Amino acid sequence: MGPGPSDIHASVLAAMAAPTVGHLDPYFLQIMDELQTMLRQVFQTQNQMTMAISGTGSAGMECCVVNLIEPGDSMIACQNGVFGGRIADVAVRAGANVTKLERPFGEVFDPAEIAAAVDQHKPKVVGIVHAETSTGALQPLEEISKIVHDAGALLLVDCVTSLAGLPVEIDKLSIDAAYSGSQKCIGCPPGLSPVTFSTKALEAIDARKTKVASWYLDIGMLRNYWGADRAYHHTAPINMNYALHQALRLVLNEGLEARFARHRLHHEALKTGLAAMGIKYSVANADHCLPMLNSVLIPDGADDVGVRKQLLNDFGIEIGGGLGPMKGKTWRIGLMGEAASKANVILFLGALEHCLNAQGIKPSPGAGLAAANARYLS
Ligand SMILES: *Cc1c(COP(=O)(O)O)cnc(C)c1O
Repeated sequence: MGPGPSDIHASVLAAMAAPTVGHLDPYFLQIMDELQTMLRQVFQTQNQMTMAISGTGSAGMECCVVNLIEPGDSMIACQNGVFGGRIADVAVRAGANVTKLERPFGEVFDPAEIAAAVDQHKPKVVGIVHAETSTGALQPLEEISKIVHDAGALLLVDCVTSLAGLPVEIDKLSIDAAYSGSQKCIGCPPGLSPVTFSTKALEAIDARKTKVASWYLDIGMLRNYWGADRAYHHTAPINMNYALHQALRLVLNEGLEARFARHRLHHEALKTGLAAMGIKYSVANADHCLPMLNSVLIPDGADDVGVRKQLLNDFGIEIGGGLGPMKGKTWRIGLMGEAASKANVILFLGALEHCLNAQGIKPSPGAGLAAANARYLS
C-alpha cells in the first residue's frame, strides 16, 4: 500500500517465468502487437505510436522530452510536486529553454495561469503531471489542453500513476505525448514504461533539425522495431514484456470503467475511515484527491518512521512517507491496482489504529473501521 511498486497478481509473476524467446521470434512479435493493441485501449487512443519503452517511468519521461525538444526549444514545465520538478530537470538536460511554473505541494494548476504563461513564453511543449504521486493531487486537464493547443504548442503529460486507475483519455483530451510506468495501477513489476505519441507529436519529431539526444530513446529508431520493419534496435526485455502483456489482459478483462470504480470505492471507504479517526488529507481541494494515492497529514504526536516501521513489521503493510517538503509531514497510502481492495482498507485502518495507540494516540476506538464498513454497506 505504498506509492508503487504495487502488489502483483500471481499470473503476472508466472508470465515472467515463461521461456525467453528471441526479440525477433514470431511469438514475441505477436506479443508486441498485442501489447500495442492493449496499450491503445488503456490509453484510450488510436495513436499508432503506442508502445512500451524498456525502462521505468522516468525512461518514458526522458523519451517524451528528448524526442520533442531540440536544444534551444522553449518548454513550460509545471511543477507542483516532485515529478513535475523531474520533468523540468530532464527538459533542462535536453537543452530546452525551460520556464518553470510552480504551485505549492498539494495544489493543482489553474488554467488561467497556464494561459498567461503560454501567451508570454510561446512554448513548443507544455509538460504537466496528471496524478502527482508525491502530493496525491489530480490535475484536471481538459481546459489546459485547449489552451495549449490554441497556442499551437504540444501537451506532454505524466500518466505514471493515473493510467489504469482513473480515466486517461489521450484522444479526447488531445494529449500529444504521454508516458506511464508498469508498476503503479497497471500492476506489473517495474521495468517498462508505456508511451504514446500523437500524429502531431510525430510530425514535430520528423521536422527536427538535430538528432534526438538519446540514442536509446530515439522514437524514430524505436518506430522501426515496433513498426512493420522489425529492425533490431536493442534487445527487448522479453520477460518484462510477457509480464506487462498479462497485466494488461487483467486490466482489460476487469474493464476500465469497473477498474476505475473499484479504485474510487476503496478510496472513498479509506477516506471515510480516516476522517472518523481525525486524519486529514494534505490535498488543498478535496475534489482533487487521487483515488490511488492517499496523501494524509501525519497526526500530531505520531512518530512518522515509528508508525511506518510497526505497520510493516507487525502487519506486513508498506505505506510511503512524504517526499520533498512533505517529508515527515505526510503519509502516502497507495490503493493501486491489486492493492485497491476491501481487505487492504479494513486491515490498514485497524492496523493504523493499533500503531497510533502504541504511541499513546487514541482515536475513538473502532471508529475508523466502523465508518469504512458503513461506507461499504451503503
Ligand atoms: C513513479 C512515478 C514516476 C517515476 O517512475 P519510475 O518508474 O520510478 O522511474 C514519474 N512520475 C510519477 C507521477 C510517478 O508516480
